[in-house]
Amino acid sequence: MATLQLKGVTKHFGETQVLKGIDLDVNDREFVVFVGPSGCGKSTLLRIIAGLESASAGDLVIDGERINDVGPAHRGLAMVFQSYALYPHMTVEENMGFSLKLAGTDKQARRAKVHETARILQLEPLLTRKPKALSGGQRQRVAIGRAIVRNPSIFLFDEPLSNLDAALRVQMRIELARLHEKLDATMIYVTHDQIEAMTMADKIVVLQGGVVEQVGSPMTLYHHPVNRFVAGFIGSPK
Ligand code: ADP
Ligand code: MG
Repeated sequence: MATLQLKGVTKHFGETQVLKGIDLDVNDREFVVFVGPSGCGKSTLLRIIAGLESASAGDLVIDGERINDVGPAHRGLAMVFQSYALYPHMTVEENMGFSLKLAGTDKQARRAKVHETARILQLEPLLTRKPKALSGGQRQRVAIGRAIVRNPSIFLFDEPLSNLDAALRVQMRIELARLHEKLDATMIYVTHDQIEAMTMADKIVVLQGGVVEQVGSPMTLYHHPVNRFVAGFIGSPK
């Protein structure tokens, strides 16, 4: 089980305030999508949740416990990046098992977990390949597999499909929805694509200029946008 709360999270880079007091409740097993235009602070917020960046002020709480000072490896979460960030010199199997190796998991247990995950993602036939011998969609599945093997209670996705072509994006959306069902995990998903947001989210968080404009279900945002920005972004007729 994993809930997340953000309380007044702010972030400055030098003089610039990028996040201006973000409050948010994420429920257990919810699929939450952060949407907003480029530069509005989506990745920064995700990196702060991941522990890759520290907040200038505010609190992060997972399952009722303040985690501001907990290191990224100990927050029970895993992040999937847009760029895949696979290790080029390692095979798919080695890429997927690497974090387990770092955590001291023995070879047999690693192999079992990697193979189980590869089965879920239909990567079994590719386990001995290097990343350069994979298609974009296959690479993205390996990046997702690398996150899954750690059994995180929260997954963080930063525009994971934006490098894929349109047809593959549609297919991967369906696969991610299936994974969400199967893994019983809380998922936070960043995109600038309103179609992804509308089709995948339980809850959408609309960001603009480091501020949360509105939080709600796709239906609520579509039918009751709080302002023109949200309406325009979501494609609501209002
Ligand atoms: P998004 O993911 O929504 O496109 P980002 O979170 O990447 O937005 O960036 C938000 C703003 O913060 C941008 O103006 C960006 O230039 C700035 N920014 C992000 N990271 C840094 C950094 N490490 N140093 C300085 N400015 C940054
Ligand atoms: Mg970004």
